[in-house]
Order: sequence, then C-alpha cells, then structure tokens
Amino acid sequence: MIMVSVSGYYPEENHVGYVTNGVHFPTWCATEWRQVYSKYFDEKHMSDQSNEEIWHGIYNCPDEEVWATRMALKQKLFDYIKEQFRETWLKNQGDPSRVVNLLEKMNPNALVIGFCRRFATYKRAHLLFTDEARLAKIVNDPEHPVIFLFAGKAHPADGAGQGLIKRIYEISQRPEFLGKVIFLEDYDFLLARRLVSGVDIWMNTPTRPLEASGTSGEKAEMNGVVNLSVKDGWWLEGYREGAGWALTEKRTYQNQGYQDQLDAATIYGLLENEIIPLYYNKDKKGISKEWIKVVKNSIAQIAPHYTMKRQLDDYYEKFYNKEAKRFKEISKDNCKLAKEIALWKETVAERWDAINVVSSEWTYPAGGIETSQKYTLRYVINEQGLDDAVALEKVNVYTDKNGEERIYSIEPLKMVKKEGNNYTFEAELAPKQAGQYKSAVRMYPKNKNLPHRQDFCYLKWLELPVSNY
Ligand SMILES: *Cc1c(COP(=O)(O)O)cnc(C)c1O
Repeated sequence: MIMVSVSGYYPEENHVGYVTNGVHFPTWCATEWRQVYSKYFDEKHMSDQSNEEIWHGIYNCPDEEVWATRMALKQKLFDYIKEQFRETWLKNQGDPSRVVNLLEKMNPNALVIGFCRRFATYKRAHLLFTDEARLAKIVNDPEHPVIFLFAGKAHPADGAGQGLIKRIYEISQRPEFLGKVIFLEDYDFLLARRLVSGVDIWMNTPTRPLEASGTSGEKAEMNGVVNLSVKDGWWLEGYREGAGWALTEKRTYQNQGYQDQLDAATIYGLLENEIIPLYYNKDKKGISKEWIKVVKNSIAQIAPHYTMKRQLDDYYEKFYNKEAKRFKEISKDNCKLAKEIALWKETVAERWDAINVVSSEWTYPAGGIETSQKYTLRYVINEQGLDDAVALEKVNVYTDKNGEERIYSIEPLKMVKKEGNNYTFEAELAPKQAGQYKSAVRMYPKNKNLPHRQDFCYLKWLELPVSNY
C-alpha cells in the first residue's frame, strides 16, 4: 500500500517561477510628475527606476506641490472628458439639459474614483451597485462629494460583460447618480493615460484569485493615484499599509453571491469610515496632509517595484541569464552535452517501467521506534543496465488544517553498494519529532547535468517495506 495521496510531486515542489508584470515608466508617468521627480529624485532615477531609495525623494517634496500636481492632473482629466464626450453625449443622451447638468456636476474638488478596465465578469464591475441606496448616500453627501468614473469595453463575444456595461450605463442615467457615476465609452490608450493619472483612487474588485495582474493599478502608482483593491494579482504583493487600501485575499464564502455582498459592504465601510474622511480632512490651505501622506507612501514604497525596468531585471536575473549560460554549456562542442542528455533520457524512459525493487527492509530496534531511536531503511533496486541513474528519498508528510497533505521533510537514501545491475540504497533514520506523519519512499532519475530534476519528470512512489512490529 502506498501511503501518500499524490502520484507525482507535491504542488509546493513546483519549480516553475514567475515574474510580476510592470509598466513602462516613461510612457505611463504624466509629464507633470516627471517634472516633480526630476526635482526631488537623484538624477540617475531614469536608469535606476526600481531603486526604492531614490523614490523616497518624494518625501522631500512639499505637500502643497504634491496636492497641486494631483489637482492639475485631475483638472486635465475633466477637461479631456468634457471635450471628448460633450458632443457624443449631446447626440446620444436625448435631453441636452441633462448633459449640461452632468458636465456641471463634474467638480474636480470631489473625491474621484476610477474603475476602468476590460469588462470581463470576474472583475465584478457591478460590485459597487450591490446596495444602491447606500451608494447614493455616499456620492451625494454635499460636504464630501464622490464621483465614480467607469470606463471599459467587453469582448464582442462576452454577452455578460456587455450586460454589465448596459446596467452601469442605465444606473448612471438615474437622477441620483447623474454626474456621480459616469460611464465613459471607448476606453483606449489615451483615455487610460488621463484616467490613471487624473483620478484620486484606482479601484479593482476582481473575484479571487482570478486577477492575473491588473497592470492599470501599477500605472496609477507612478502618478500619485492610490489603489483600493482586492488583494489579488499584483496588489497581493504590492499593497503596503498606509499606502492604499486592500480587501483581504481570503475568501469567506464559497457562495459567490454572499462573497460579493461582503466585499461590497467592506468597500462602502472603507469609503465611509476611512477614505472619504481622510480625503476631506483639509487644512486652512485646503489640502489634506493625511491624504498626501498616503500618496507619498504609495509613490515611495510601491511605484518603484512595478516598473518595466524591474520586470526586465527580474527576467534577466531569474531566467534569461541562467538560460543563456545553460545554452552555452549544452551547445558547446557541437551540442555534446545536449546530445548526451537526450540519449540518457531516452534510455531511462525506455527502461523506467522495468526498473524494480528487488528487496526492501527496515530494521527496527527491539520494542519499536521511539523518538530519536535510529533505524535503517534499505532498498535494493535493479536498474536494468543503467549506471547509477536513479535516486531514492523518504518523504514525510502531514495533513494541514485544510485537509491537504504537505511535505514535512525529505530524507535522501544513499547509494551504498553496486552488484551487477543491483544498487543498494540506505538511510539511517531517527524520527525527529513525535507526531502524526505519513511516510513513503519515492524514486526519480538523477543526472547532475539536468537543470532541475522536474526537467525529466519521471517519479515512482514505492511500496514501503512491511513493518515487523
Ligand atoms: C493598462 C491597460 C489595460 C490593462 O489593465 P488591467 O488593469 O490589467 O485590466 C487595459 N486597457 C488599457 C487601455 C490599458 O491602458
């Protein structure tokens, strides 16, 4: 009987790595911020973009200048929207007085929140409208107005995504939301540029864990726009306390409807109790120092880690440089090593099923095993003419609180003797800690010229020797 539940490797042993996306700083950083950065950052900042220390220069920028830069970009966004959409809206929305009313309501002193992305349903654009009465109260507070800008396209074949756009458009036309919830058609590169630099908050509410990255939030960071998102995609690693807002990555409910309600309530609560009061806590000069602190923190501590420069550095360090070195090694001398490895793999693959356990045993001390008492585990393997081509290891697993088996420890067996085709493997073991563990032994092809053993993913779990308790 094989004691563990997997047939291959455990998920936590997966050796495939990753690189987090970044965005091209010179493209996505507004000119206004570039000018600020060149005043307060080290002059090398363009060539050393992912150096967080340089970005800490933003703390030397006066609060008034940060606020003025934000306001200038917000004004620029509103001007762009008015210029871009006035005519279309007048043409499509029937009643011209409504359009004029809408345009008048676009007050750049309001807290402006952007939700702009592809309308794939997993992004949950509808989440904000879970409790329409509560939302109407939030956006219509005369002292502390809030405007939501929505923009995005759905895939032509995504009927549900198109339905979401229709619903948000309809809501945006209702009297209580007119000029407060605004849908912008034709989301494109230019509109995206204005939005990621012009709003105060960039919001993303994906269904966990479906967000691959969400790069628009990274564009926002380098423009002093603060993120409010579910910890998923890039925000799962990007979020820093005091530099934006996050909804936990943990799912509370299996039922998606309940989860949506909980997430919506969390967002309303954050807006009502934290975000809006912080934004409107203005001093005599009309600026909120506490808000600027969040903006500065997010520029200093988050933005440097999400540039294309950092992404490329990661690709080189984690993958490309190693690959280049490896390519040189295996292609040298007319691909000598590559051919050797290919031949070895073929031979092992051919004989793998025939490689068998000749005998196995473990020697128990009299009276059974107790903590720290030693015992020997021994296997004799017929390698079918292969020359020391396999390795054995004992794997100890435990069951975690979710009922998943996980690796506790791995103990390699040593090859101690060769007789013809028979190789003897041995380990002298002592249980390190009492507890509920399952153990099993597995065999894999070994070759020091493989970059990783999973590069040749054969694995066989072996029967444990019968205990002689
Ligand atoms: C950045 C960008 C996207 C991707 O944004 P996500 O946050 O990954 O959804 C989509 N469309 C435009 C126009 C963009 O600029």
